[in-house]
Amino acid sequence: MLASVIINSNKQWVGQPLIYEIPSPLIGQVHLGAWVRVPVGNREADGVIVGFSQETAIQGLKSIKEVLDPELLPAPVVELLLWMSEYYLCLPGETLPLFLPPALKRRQCFWAWLGGKGRDELDPALFINPLTFEVATYLAKRGRVSQRSLRRRWSDKEIGLALKELEARGFVTRQWNWEFKEGKKGVSSLGLKDQEFQSLEKRVIHLTSEQQLALKFLEMGIKEGKGNFLLHGVTGSGKTEVYLRAIASTLDLDREIIVLVPEHSLIPQMAGRLKEAFGDLVVVLHGDLPDGERTAVWEKVRSGEAKIVVGTRSALFAPFAKLGLIVIDEEHSPTYKNEANPRYDAREVALKRGQIQEAVVVLGSATPSTEAYFLASRGHLKLLALKQRVAGGQLPKVEIIDMREEYLEGRSGYLSARLQEEIQATLQRGEQVLLFLNRRGYAPHVTCRSCGYVPTCTNCAVSLTYHADGKLRCHYCGLVQNWEGSCPQCRGSLALLGAGTQRVEAEIRVLFPEARVLRADSDSLKSPRRWREIYNLFLSRQADILIGTQTIAKGMDFPGVSLVGVINADISLFLPDFRARERTFQLLTQVAGRSGRRSDRGLVLIQTFNPEDPAIMLASRQDYEGFYRLEIASRQALRYPPFVKLARLGLAGPYEGEVISAAFSLARVLKEIGSSVEILGPAPAAIPKVKGEYRWQLTLKAPGWHLLKEALEKALERYCCPPGIKLIKEIGPVNLW
Ligand code: ADP
Ligand code: ZN
Repeated sequence: MLASVIINSNKQWVGQPLIYEIPSPLIGQVHLGAWVRVPVGNREADGVIVGFSQETAIQGLKSIKEVLDPELLPAPVVELLLWMSEYYLCLPGETLPLFLPPALKRRQCFWAWLGGKGRDELDPALFINPLTFEVATYLAKRGRVSQRSLRRRWSDKEIGLALKELEARGFVTRQWNWEFKEGKKGVSSLGLKDQEFQSLEKRVIHLTSEQQLALKFLEMGIKEGKGNFLLHGVTGSGKTEVYLRAIASTLDLDREIIVLVPEHSLIPQMAGRLKEAFGDLVVVLHGDLPDGERTAVWEKVRSGEAKIVVGTRSALFAPFAKLGLIVIDEEHSPTYKNEANPRYDAREVALKRGQIQEAVVVLGSATPSTEAYFLASRGHLKLLALKQRVAGGQLPKVEIIDMREEYLEGRSGYLSARLQEEIQATLQRGEQVLLFLNRRGYAPHVTCRSCGYVPTCTNCAVSLTYHADGKLRCHYCGLVQNWEGSCPQCRGSLALLGAGTQRVEAEIRVLFPEARVLRADSDSLKSPRRWREIYNLFLSRQADILIGTQTIAKGMDFPGVSLVGVINADISLFLPDFRARERTFQLLTQVAGRSGRRSDRGLVLIQTFNPEDPAIMLASRQDYEGFYRLEIASRQALRYPPFVKLARLGLAGPYEGEVISAAFSLARVLKEIGSSVEILGPAPAAIPKVKGEYRWQLTLKAPGWHLLKEALEKALERYCCPPGIKLIKEIGPVNLW
């Protein structure tokens, strides 16, 4: 018997598995996903078994030395990681770390239980050490007990002495094992301390008939262990309530649950609601947890102590063996795509994981991605619709404000007269206002009034943004420059054009000096703790106006908000991306959905220079189906997903000439192999230089994944990427590069 093992050498996972012989005494002990110790050169290394074979022709193979944990990862999870490597064109050693805690550190630990002699023979008089009898009684009561739980009562020394005595007298059996060393815990960024989550009302809720129907289908799926669903519910339609019930049904069947949210900022709200319903069964898992805490949470998941994981996309890799349900909330979010190697899409991976582990997958959104809705229209996802808002509120009234007219009338600020009026009225009623602008900083455009000079980043092909602290910043690489106040070329005066969230905040503070104002963007949210503070302040109505970027657009449930103002609806509209219109529609619909969630007086004001744009008009009517019809027709006409599958080959390097010539020779190889895959480019990337690297790209279009993969593999076999150039392979890109 042979095993393929991904080994960890010098703290790095080696890409391709190595083959080892399984010595006969170990044969019954090694399973797929086992953690083993293997020889490498003249050293030893840790590894994880990802496959078996019977091949006998290979000579001189080394043998596995030791099994550290026969079930480090459940077998279906190994199957998933191999699938991911195949599907996203990366090596198994690149996908494996996604499934593991940050460091595989271990220490020996034991389980102990009373065995051998019977309990009735236990007598305090038998033992020298008085504590021994106490420990024995505890074991008699608890059965099989871990070292960890003994440690909660006694010190290591006390435990050691007591167990030694019990063992010597034949009362106790001990089994040694390995456990994870958690390492330093550090400060938890988003742990689940109850007092930090305010729950609102959270009372007995009777599901509406729409919710009941959706739940019925989900429960049928959960019982059968299959089914993929798209829960399309307007904002405030009670999707989360449906998830909670479906989760309860999954727990009833003793199966486990993963809940994904698109951003960190949404974890407290979702985790709070889950925690309220399911208590300690819930854990939070995401990439920014300190290593020690991530390991501890991971171990809770693996050991079955936790049953529900909530987190951002990486929580999808929680090593549950009996997974029964995956919920992907706000399914349309581009953040479900991983932008580093392996460049996976959590939605695709979730569907695959569901298939492998016979778990139900629910994608939920008020504005489903065109791809997901298309899958539903073809019957690949079962569509469940929630058309009514639950909490009594009607969908808000939306008005479009034509900013061209405002400026013709001589307005100088960024808030229209109508928006100012409504803010005033809302504040007077003691209600709250949410202002949305998807751009941080103070002024996004800086330019010299006399010579036209524009400060740009020295590392990136973008202009710098002026910030309220008097510095110019690059939003791509973080470069910071002091603001001299005058043009470095001609000493002319510099104009600050356009508005970011800081400028809107400044304007608001002047116009409404009495109002209590908060700002939420990545500048003000440097620490997750700060976001929790802002969230709680606003939720408990200790602030009147919240200004923010997309952090505040999605999913947030603030009952006090009755006015939402969109400062500039056009920002995402003209990006050179076939999804620009979809993004705009989604953002506007989502942000509009934050208004009037508990009353009938919700109002949304959308300021735009493009009032006739269909994405803006349809969003103002909250007409998802109308938008989908328009979008799907255009995707079909222009041959974009879901009608084709895309791949991107990106080339990046410090010398422009080298990058360009590498891109052209890659294009040549692709054309030579004569596949039917359509090749676009080479062309400079949307942002042609980032962090000192020039970037060119090729986009591939094919009817399906198989053709793409075949062409890419053939081409990459022949193509030799020059040294100093990075080659980025990406299946199904969803973002500009
Ligand atoms: P969504 O996730 O669709 O935006 P939520 O699930 O957050 O909506 O629901 C919004 C609010 O309505 C929550 O406070 C929730 O507790 C409440 N809610 C959900 N279902 C019902 C119901 N059937 N009756 C009354 N209130 C409900
Ligand atoms: Zn830069």
